[in-house]
Amino acid sequence: MARKTVVTAASTEESSTTPSATSFAINDREMDEGLRPQSLAEIVGQKKVVDRIQIILTAAQNRNEALGHLLFEGPPGLGKTTLAMVLHKELDSDFQITSAPTLRAPKDLLPYLTRATERSILFIDEIHRLPPAVEEFIYPAMEDFRVDIAVGEGINARTINMTLKPFTIVGATTRSGMLTAPLRDRFVNRAHFDFYEIEELAFLLRRNARKLKTELSEEASMEIAFRSRGTPRKANNLLRWIRDFAQVQHKVDTISESIAQEALAMIEIDKIGLEEMDRRYLQTVMTVYSGGPAGLEAIGHSLNVPPDTLQDEVEPFLLRQGFIQRTPRGRMVTAAAWQHLKMSPPENDTNIF
Ligand code: ADP
Repeated sequence: MARKTVVTAASTEESSTTPSATSFAINDREMDEGLRPQSLAEIVGQKKVVDRIQIILTAAQNRNEALGHLLFEGPPGLGKTTLAMVLHKELDSDFQITSAPTLRAPKDLLPYLTRATERSILFIDEIHRLPPAVEEFIYPAMEDFRVDIAVGEGINARTINMTLKPFTIVGATTRSGMLTAPLRDRFVNRAHFDFYEIEELAFLLRRNARKLKTELSEEASMEIAFRSRGTPRKANNLLRWIRDFAQVQHKVDTISESIAQEALAMIEIDKIGLEEMDRRYLQTVMTVYSGGPAGLEAIGHSLNVPPDTLQDEVEPFLLRQGFIQRTPRGRMVTAAAWQHLKMSPPENDTNIF
C-alpha cells in the first residue's frame, strides 16, 4: 500500500497565527521541510526520547499493532512534528496532521478519525487547546477505536457507534500542564523534548549545510549553534539566512566563521542567541517594572505581544539562561540578565537579588 501524508490547511495555520519572536522573515515552518530527518537514525540528539521510541516502535512492529498513543511535550522547534513524521515512515503507514485550535467541534475532528488507516499516525499539534466537546469525543476513539455520533434531536435523538481502524494519535504540546488529567492519562507514552546541546546543533548544521550544497567550516557551525537557542528550527533558519548572506554579499558558497558573525550581526542575534524580542522582554521588565516582579499579562501588554507567545517562545530560553525567574508574584530578571544587557538595577531596589 502506498503511504500517504495528508498535510491540511489546519496544520500550517499555526505558523501564521503565532506572532513570531524572530523578527526576520525566514522563520517559517514550511521552509524546514527539506531539512527534516526522514528516519529515526537521522534524528540528532534527544537520545532518551529516541531510545524509548525505538523500543516502542520495534515492539509494535513485531506484533504488527498500532503504536500506543504518544504525547510529545516541550518548547516549539525541538522536533515534535519531525519525530511524529519519522514514526509513520518507520511504520510505513499513513500520516495526517492537524492542530487543535482548528478543531472547534467534533465534526471537525471526525473526518480525520474516519480517514485514519490501520497503524497510521494522526498528529495533533497544540493538543492542550482542544475544546472540551472535542476532548470528550476523542476519548472513545483513543480507547476503543470507536466514535459515538449523536444524530437527530429531541425524541428522535440517537447515537450511532462507528468503529475506527486501530491508529495512533501523537499529541504535541508546549504546555503539558494545561492538559486535562483524563486526556493526559489516555496517552500511553509521554516524551519530554529538551533543548539541544551546542555540539548536537553544530553537527546538525554541518549535515544540513551539505544538504543545501554549502560548505560550512567547523568554527562557523559552532558559532551558529551557540546562537540557535538550543533549537534545531532556529539553527536551520539561521543557516539558510547565512547561506543567502554569503552568496549575495560575498559571492561565495562557503560559510566561514567571520561571514557567519557578520550575517548574525545584521539580524541582531547576539553572542548567546538573544534576539530582539528577548532583549525587549528583558528591557521592559527592567525599565517598566524595575526588574520585577511583573505579571506575564502586564509584560505582554507592554510589549504588545500575546502572553501565550511570550510563555511558549520567549520565556523557556530566558529561564534556561537563568535570565528570569518565575516567582509567585510574577517574573523577575536576574543579576545575570542585568549584566548581559550591561544595565544596572535601580538603586535601593531590594527585589532584585
Ligand atoms: P516542533 O514540532 O517541536 O515545533 P519541528 O519538528 O517542526 O518542531 O522541528 C523544526 C525543524 O527542526 C524540523 O523541520 C527539522 O528540520 C529540525 N529538527 C527538529 N528536531 C530535529 C532533530 N532531532 N534532528 C534533526 N533535525 C531536527
